[in-house]
Amino acid sequence: MKKLELLIIGAGPIGLACGIEAQKNGLNYLIIEKGVLTNSIFNYPVNMTFFSTSEKLEMGDIPFMSIANKPTRPEALEYYRRIVRHYGLLIHLYEEVQTLEKTEESFLVHTSKGTYLAEKLVVATGFYDLPNTMNVPGEDLPKVTHYYKEPWPYIGQKIIVVGGGNSAVDVALETWRKGAEVTMVVMKPQIDQTVKYWVLPDIENRIKEGSIKGYFSTTIKEIRENEVLLQTPEGEVSVANDFVLAMTGYKPNFALLDQLGVQLSLDEKRQPCYDAESQESNVPGLYLAGVVCGGLNTREFFIENTIVHAQSIIADIVKKKQTPSGV
Ligand code: FAD
Repeated sequence: MKKLELLIIGAGPIGLACGIEAQKNGLNYLIIEKGVLTNSIFNYPVNMTFFSTSEKLEMGDIPFMSIANKPTRPEALEYYRRIVRHYGLLIHLYEEVQTLEKTEESFLVHTSKGTYLAEKLVVATGFYDLPNTMNVPGEDLPKVTHYYKEPWPYIGQKIIVVGGGNSAVDVALETWRKGAEVTMVVMKPQIDQTVKYWVLPDIENRIKEGSIKGYFSTTIKEIRENEVLLQTPEGEVSVANDFVLAMTGYKPNFALLDQLGVQLSLDEKRQPCYDAESQESNVPGLYLAGVVCGGLNTREFFIENTIVHAQSIIADIVKKKQTPSGV
């Protein structure tokens, strides 16, 4: 069985940042990723543009070049690929971490391809694997998706976009511009006012002029083959429909954390318990990095403000290695 000083779960931006720091500090580490390199970003909408400027996403002293000030998905994918190549990061792709066990001094990590023994663990599994469901009848119909890729399938179709945040707004505008008949269903009384400031007037004006139909303070009641029932403030409304794009956000998968007894806060945020300086959780030797730290509070944690986790974690691991008592 392979014995490691550090096993990092997840090759998203923050898992990679942890790998860079581990490598710089001479740790015997491995990153294990269940999908492709930067799997979440790979699965983002094809035409998405980051809201961060590229320099705010930089890591490992590698400049992030983009044509415009905010990078696109392909530019980000290429950036992370070059980082991995530059540093020669040690990554196993297409290998899922399935169960974790704590032994006296280490962790046993069982994956879809084998078992590893690791002294320390970093969980950097992000939040993109589990969508927030609406829990309404018909949500499991094939015409309903929580993951939007591109507008092409929706040309000439009657679509409902659920949600009023950045993702929903981007989807509504992009599909409408390619010729979809778009209805937005928003639970709140208006479009989220924190939507990217250069996009907000665009969506508000499209709704005001009637190009995109907006139902506010409204929820989905039932999804049927050819129609969707809405619960509006004026009562029930039926809307003819071909596809439902539910941009209702995502949440982290807590299964791995639960297995080792990482505590979650009792409030609605369900935020995992960790030390804000070292990122070490209540389970000694298990560290949390990236957006998984936010629990259900996914809006306040993103790449820009979690890259720093990598340095904090590796500094703590190195310190404890030098002074095994941890003092
Ligand atoms: P992720 O990138 O989600 O990486 C986690 C990785 O762990 C994934 O590759 C996943 O496959 C892997 N994994 C999960 N479970 C397992 C397992 N059991 N075994 C092995 N591997 C596993 N942030 C910004 O800072 N700026 C932006 O402009 C920005 N724009 C965004 C636009 C969109 C449309 C979205 C959805 C998000 C955006 N974000 C942005 C947020 C940002 O993309 C995420 O915060 C970021 O991906 C988090 O990085 P991470 O490494 O923590 O998690």
